[in-house]
Amino acid sequence: MIISKKLKRRSPSEKVKRRCKNCKEIFLVEPSRLRRSSGIYCSKDCYRNLSLVDRFKAFLGRPDKNGCINWQGVTCNGYGQISNKGKQLKAHRVAWELKNGPIKKGYSCLHKCDNRSCVNVDHLFIGTQLDNMRDMIEKGRHKTVKGDDHPNAKLSKAKIKKIRQRYFRYGFTQLEISEEFGISRPLVSMIVNHKIWRHVE
Ligand SMILES: [Zn+2]
Ligand SMILES: [Zn+2]
Repeated sequence: MIISKKLKRRSPSEKVKRRCKNCKEIFLVEPSRLRRSSGIYCSKDCYRNLSLVDRFKAFLGRPDKNGCINWQGVTCNGYGQISNKGKQLKAHRVAWELKNGPIKKGYSCLHKCDNRSCVNVDHLFIGTQLDNMRDMIEKGRHKTVKGDDHPNAKLSKAKIKKIRQRYFRYGFTQLEISEEFGISRPLVSMIVNHKIWRHVE
């Protein structure tokens, strides 16, 4: 019988000391986890026991040069995420609601700054129902297609602006935008990430 010994790879213990934001105990955390913005609480319990407000505050970054407060926690499609009672909430909506109270059903919390991860309440506004907005844009789209502004026409400054607005302000997916403008999804990605057309705001 062969006794196999499990070879445990021992990583050098380069853990760093952190003070738990809840219980104030010192705990050790791997540096790689810090980058993923873990390492704020010593345990899941310490995290869960906090109120939504405190957990929210723990993930606020310093304002950047535009005054945007970028979410330091998990993001999804660029939007900050925070869990509450088993539900994933969008961090910018939580930011708004903590200050102004609940967002009415059917209304959207939108970014003036076109920066999805921003949770600065001053950069947010409440928009009309997203579906209505999409509907409006849909109708407008059908009109323009008939005209000389065909989606296959070359991209223009105005179109680049529209594309970025659709993405950042109205939350369209890159796929939806690529279909609307008749361009490839990777091209949409380059536009919204400011890889091209940088001179357009
Ligand atoms: Zn703790
Ligand atoms: Zn902002």
